[in-house]
Amino acid sequence: MTSPLRSTTAALLALLAPSVVRAQDVARAPAYDASALLDHVRPSERAALASELGVDALDQLPLYDLHVAIDDQLRGFGLRESVVVTNTEARPWREVVMRVFVNATVAPGRDPDVRFLEGRCLDGRSCGFEQSSPSVIVVRPDAPIAPGAQLRFELDLQGTMRELEDDRLTMMGQGLEGLAALEGTQASTPGDYGLVAHGGGIGSLAAFYPVLARRRGTRWVTDDGGTMGDLSTDAPHHVRARIVVPEEAVVASSGVEVSVADVADAPGRAPRKEITIHAAAVRELAILVSPRFVTQECTADGTRIRSFFLMRDQDAGRHVADVACAAFRVFTRRFGPYPYTELDVVEAPLVGGAGGVEFSGLVTVALMFYRGALDGGGGAAGMLGALGALGGGDGSDATAGLDGLAQMSASMREFVTAHEVAHQWWHGLVGSDSRAHPWVDESLAQYAAMLYVEDRHGAARAREEGERQVAMNYHMMRIQGLPDDVVDRPASAFGAPIAYAGLVYGKGPYFYGAVRERVGDDAFFAGLSRYVTEHRFREAGPGDVVDALAHESRGHEAEVRALARRWLHERHGDEDLGPSDGADVLRTMMPPELAAALDDPTMGPLLRQLMGSMLAGGGAGGGGGGEDGADLRALLGGGEVDDDAIRARLGEIQGLGQTQATPTEPRDTQRPPAQRRGPAPRRLP
Ligand SMILES: [Zn+2]
Repeated sequence: MTSPLRSTTAALLALLAPSVVRAQDVARAPAYDASALLDHVRPSERAALASELGVDALDQLPLYDLHVAIDDQLRGFGLRESVVVTNTEARPWREVVMRVFVNATVAPGRDPDVRFLEGRCLDGRSCGFEQSSPSVIVVRPDAPIAPGAQLRFELDLQGTMRELEDDRLTMMGQGLEGLAALEGTQASTPGDYGLVAHGGGIGSLAAFYPVLARRRGTRWVTDDGGTMGDLSTDAPHHVRARIVVPEEAVVASSGVEVSVADVADAPGRAPRKEITIHAAAVRELAILVSPRFVTQECTADGTRIRSFFLMRDQDAGRHVADVACAAFRVFTRRFGPYPYTELDVVEAPLVGGAGGVEFSGLVTVALMFYRGALDGGGGAAGMLGALGALGGGDGSDATAGLDGLAQMSASMREFVTAHEVAHQWWHGLVGSDSRAHPWVDESLAQYAAMLYVEDRHGAARAREEGERQVAMNYHMMRIQGLPDDVVDRPASAFGAPIAYAGLVYGKGPYFYGAVRERVGDDAFFAGLSRYVTEHRFREAGPGDVVDALAHESRGHEAEVRALARRWLHERHGDEDLGPSDGADVLRTMMPPELAAALDDPTMGPLLRQLMGSMLAGGGAGGGGGGEDGADLRALLGGGEVDDDAIRARLGEIQGLGQTQATPTEPRDTQRPPAQRRGPAPRRLP
């Protein structure tokens, strides 16, 4: 006799068994569970994600599983990285090449930021590991990796987050470095933006974990042809990161935080926590950490947008939050929906002339834009007071001068923030080759920032900001005596950073304005939408945006292509953007009260340097250097800055300055270690 229960169970098993067998026969075993990482992607985006990425299944993308421990003083980190890569090509791979891009920017003779310690293959394979240059790790498995097969391995690495001194992080500090670059006396390499570093109480980890090298044909790319501009493969991948930090640290990162757990204390150690992050289909993951971060956030179109900033910079940090949210709304409306659930906009200790740096789901804005334009050298109070006083001699003129400077500084902060947020579409969503065709995403990000200004403040203001923040890059290049040239070139072909800035950030963006004027708003924005729709999560080629604009141009296709030739491949910048007159450029950039100070024998040279840094070094255009600084040097004063005379002069007028400036907190780095751990940072509304 068979109990009813047993017979039912048997029947169920009989039903299940064949299907289980079939599933095992048919289904490929997943390389890993990619669906578990999708909390970072908006639900409406998940179904089409694999096909948009151009893969059959999400687990064909590389997975980088990072376990990072950052030390209490933000001076270094340890990293164990587990990698799963699938050979998605038709031929076997004999080796897999990984790149640590931050190491490519390390000046010769300096130790790399990230040191490779050792590696091991998993799944019973044995592999050889070789670091053939600071940024290249070659993995050679015992047998080739067949098409469709995976390689799993672990890498152990150790990183040094070098210290960026406070005086390098200000507008003035970056301006002086820009001048050093012009004179060829700078210590750093172009493209060294301090991505793995700490400064101002903020730790930065970006371009720090090994990623699969870019493929060109059947070769791994191990040489970037120079370091100017953005270095990355831009290839989408998944990341799970477990980040161990001091208990009071606030962490901003790409992706979403899915859990926080206490880490068992070692005796005598400060309490620590482990934060787990999921980031799906991203082009990179960046991490910024500070015990002094506070945040302000908004939600726009279903995405949570958070601004992270130091408590002492809260006015600017709130401004960045406001701009980021407004820009996000403009870009969503103009370019289409954003794919992720979160975006972090983070104050960061950037150097090398970078105004900000873009990553998937996170952008940084340079700390210098959160401080007064003149903060840093001799104290904000003295500098602001000095320059204000020089403007006219009485208090009211001084106040007007300060207001003018503060407005300039805020406008630059606004423009840079909008530019970096725009990169979430032009780079993050629609990828492009930032080495071979840097104009593709940079010119679009610049144009998008002008578009943000237009939608928010009107067309007249957009034209003005365009002159100051976009065309200025071109004029500064021309003032230095560098010729107009082709925009669509590899980053390595520009030679001088100021030519790169002038052409890619200064001239290229106006191509879009020219097309829009010719075809009208409807056709122009339809063209940009087509470009996004066709290339979401892919890498667009240099002709694709032109094709999309031409396709939607309603009968103006030949004209759109002619405009692309004119702006991107020919040399009509002087005709199209107007003459570049040095004195005019400098004076029109300045509040009138300050222009008079250019003639002061002591402060004039300093002011010229500062203005030069704001024009050439501090803008969204990035680099402020060039091969021959003689022309700019002549423009900026022609004389040596006399530090002693400036200090004496500052002393004379310090009193006025102190009444004008806002008080500043003591610097984080001046606190003894015991006082650095305060109460948990609070979130601002
Ligand atoms: Zn950019």
